[in-house]
Amino acid sequence: GFKMGIVGLPNVGKSTLFNALTRTAAAQAANFPFCTIEPNVGDVAVPDPRLDKLATIAGSNQTIPTRMTFVDIAGLVKGASKGEGLGNQFLANIREVDAIAHVVRCFEDDDVTHVENRIDPVADAETIETELMLADIESIEKRLVNITRKVRGGDKEAVQQERLLRAALAVLEDGKPARTVQVDDEDRRAWKMLQLLTTKPVLYVCNVGESDAAEGNALSAKVGEMAAAEGNSHVVISAQIEEEISQLDAEEAEMFLTEMGLDEAGLSRLIKAGYELLHLETYFTVGPKEARAWTIRAGTTAPKAAGVIHGDFERGFIRAETISYDDFVTLGGEQAAKEAGKMRAEGKAYIVKDGDVLHFLFNT
Ligand code: GDP
Repeated sequence: GFKMGIVGLPNVGKSTLFNALTRTAAAQAANFPFCTIEPNVGDVAVPDPRLDKLATIAGSNQTIPTRMTFVDIAGLVKGASKGEGLGNQFLANIREVDAIAHVVRCFEDDDVTHVENRIDPVADAETIETELMLADIESIEKRLVNITRKVRGGDKEAVQQERLLRAALAVLEDGKPARTVQVDDEDRRAWKMLQLLTTKPVLYVCNVGESDAAEGNALSAKVGEMAAAEGNSHVVISAQIEEEISQLDAEEAEMFLTEMGLDEAGLSRLIKAGYELLHLETYFTVGPKEARAWTIRAGTTAPKAAGVIHGDFERGFIRAETISYDDFVTLGGEQAAKEAGKMRAEGKAYIVKDGDVLHFLFNT
């Protein structure tokens, strides 16, 4: 599954948000099943109304949503990369995530201390990014030393790695994140394997006060500009509202959201933004037993999509019987779609589309 790491300065609302999101998921158990893996890791179901619709049409006994994992990564402060350095566990936590949800404080409250005694989310974001850049520099320098011998021995992989590490180091020493390096197609895989912290896509989460939850405020607008300039994205959330929602049942939550002028809970918006940032899509498998959602990267071929369910599905892939979501819903299910000629037999080269209802045929 895909993982988002929640980072940010102390006191910006990370834990409030994490707890609220995961409790919301737990409270609305039917549609938002959630389980805690570790205290700071939450496995959250991706809300998708299409799944319920498909299940209703097909008469499926249950729905199984696809999931996204959130990790609350505390401990990032100014100077964290110096002195004792960032803890190993901490760094490993960030290395493992697919994207960073970077919470910045966009709310005023004299009762909540700011570590720098001012409310400036853009400066806060830079503080955190600087620590991540310093951590990258430190780890690159170590790795360059470690691969010297292999490079001298002419190891091709090591030579490629060294070249990429040096390219990253050059921009980092220039004060820019590693994601600003232009990477050629043939280097993309090796580049990703370097797992540099500042190559991860960032979703800025602007934590605003309750009254700004619907429209955002001047501070969150600034963060939005910064995110756009970086090629990252942002979302406006009120951690306090999310906390209140987390204590309501699904129906009450909906009423509360309407009152606040919000269409959707923060959980949904956060996940949607994460999906967009990571170029993720959903396909479905639908039967009498269950309707289930699966996550893939945009551009995934049918065999690779099958591999998300099971490796055997990918290895023995023959074809994918495919119905688009719209056809499935408009025509009223698999049989009707088939009779209308809307079930396609797609082969190995087929690029799965968001919303496709798939049935895989494979050799065992
Ligand atoms: P963390 O250190 O980033 O995990 O921050 P916390 O989630 O522990 O929040 C720090 C303090 O800010 C707590 O007292 C929260 O109740 C408060 N807080 C969090 N979000 C908001 C918000 O949107 N508005 C206000 N006024 N306070 C908030």
